[in-house]
Amino acid sequence: MRKRITIHWGRVAIFIAAVLLIIAGLAFFLSRCFPFSREQTDKAPHYVKKLYLKKNPYSRPADALTEVNDIVIHYVGNPGTSAEANRNYFNNLSSRRSNPEGTKASAHFIVGLSGEIIQCIPLTEIAYANYPRNEDTVSIEVCHPDEGGQFAPETYQSLVRLTADLLNEYGLTAEHVIRHYDVSGKACPKYYVENEDAWNRLKADIAAKTEEGK
Ligand SMILES: [Zn+2]
Repeated sequence: MRKRITIHWGRVAIFIAAVLLIIAGLAFFLSRCFPFSREQTDKAPHYVKKLYLKKNPYSRPADALTEVNDIVIHYVGNPGTSAEANRNYFNNLSSRRSNPEGTKASAHFIVGLSGEIIQCIPLTEIAYANYPRNEDTVSIEVCHPDEGGQFAPETYQSLVRLTADLLNEYGLTAEHVIRHYDVSGKACPKYYVENEDAWNRLKADIAAKTEEGK
């Protein structure tokens, strides 16, 4: 009886060892096959809410973003709309029924009216916001309460924090924060195109925040 029990546990031990070896081998194999997992390359700060768009040709083409030289600030141009509503608008561009004209638009991040931040696209992929510089920029859309386009205080603080953290992640300075206007001449973000002082203040606040985060 005792002998039989001994043989039984020995087999169990060998079986467990074999299973562990297979799992270890499989984990090693997978890590070699997929070295660019999101955890390794998506440099988004932990406090953003990830609500990725469906992969589609109109707002998330899933083309690789291989270099980041500038961070581009936008305003949504639709007063009073939430970050989530704007995220859903981008997501709905994926359907031909809701996007019969084939509009192409998206952004990596949207900062909302209460300072919440939604990430729509991983930082390993391009967004459709900064043409013709989608291939080497990160884009941030910002919500605003009224037509004037000025950002609310909570929104402004979140934008400063997010932009500063991204600059530090990419090893860039506040000189690399630009407006959509600086890319294509579009009046975006409206208030910060019409008020150069406000834009310079925003950049100075971002520069100060990068120092805090270092
Ligand atoms: Zn814009």
